[in-house]
Amino acid sequence: MESLKRCPSCRGEAELIQFPVLSDQLWQVNCCQCGMGTELNDDRFISVQQWNRRDREERFRSLVTLLGVLLPTMMLLMFFLGVFLGISMIGSEAP
Ligand SMILES: [Zn+2]
Repeated sequence: MESLKRCPSCRGEAELIQFPVLSDQLWQVNCCQCGMGTELNDDRFISVQQWNRRDREERFRSLVTLLGVLLPTMMLLMFFLGVFLGISMIGSEAP
């Protein structure tokens, strides 16, 4: 069986929980720390896959978020650097 990856949001341990429903069983993977979990599924393997896929999606999303924060910051820095260089150039040209 595929092993459970750590929680994508808090890196806590995850556990596979079994819900007995009438004659059937439902499965859900839950984080022990923050309680984040997958949807209930009647197949434990799908639950595990959903959980492990979420980890990958979350990592991708955080990368996108990081880029979304980093790019404007870089542009702002470049702008200020440009302003600074522009000012110092003007300053050096002045007699
Ligand atoms: Zn968690």
